[in-house]
Amino acid sequence: NPFAGAQFLMSCAQLTQLPADGLPEIAFAGRSNAGKSSALNTLCSHKQLARVSKTPGRTQLINLFNVAGGRFVDLPGYGFAKVPKDIRRDWGRLIGDYLEGRANLRGIVLLMDIRHPLTPFDVQMIEWSAHRQLPCHVMLTKADKLSFGAAKNVLLSVRKAIAELPLASTQLFSSTSFLGLDDARAHLLRWLGG
Ligand code: GDP
Repeated sequence: NPFAGAQFLMSCAQLTQLPADGLPEIAFAGRSNAGKSSALNTLCSHKQLARVSKTPGRTQLINLFNVAGGRFVDLPGYGFAKVPKDIRRDWGRLIGDYLEGRANLRGIVLLMDIRHPLTPFDVQMIEWSAHRQLPCHVMLTKADKLSFGAAKNVLLSVRKAIAELPLASTQLFSSTSFLGLDDARAHLLRWLGG
């Protein structure tokens, strides 16, 4: 596993606190409860790596992890009941500034619970990455919750929905069964230039 040595680096409340080096970063975004922490832990073979992102006072911060060749950046999960026009404001300046301005950013991993794909916020994230000409890799999490056939159908419909975006990709993933784990690691490794 290329990400086995992952370690928590820092929590960050302001863009100016971020490391001022050129290391590539991969941002992880998703609705609260989408399985983002579990996916980070699974990718890094570390049971509690992303626990820090859930500790009080840190859930609204950007949490950074050192991995071989770069960093994983855990963005705060967005809430359940937001309407699209409020999304940008409520999700916070910090996240918007990071996504718009961080030169180190190489790509966005968007975690979606396979049972609730493509919420308005998810769509906005995908459009945002396209606007910045950054790759967006959608991981349909908790794929073990559906039959393989049903999961494949969701995969195909999400692929169809984002087919016109050349930098978007989609895969099934499960932190329980490890479905898609090798593909996810290989994908992210390429973004980090490995
Ligand atoms: P986060 O809020 O996006 O960080 O989500 P978590 O990683 O904390 O996961 C939310 C809930 O979904 C927890 O109860 C996890 O145990 C569960 N969960 C996460 N990933 C999976 C998965 O791949 N399969 C199953 N069955 N449950 C999962």
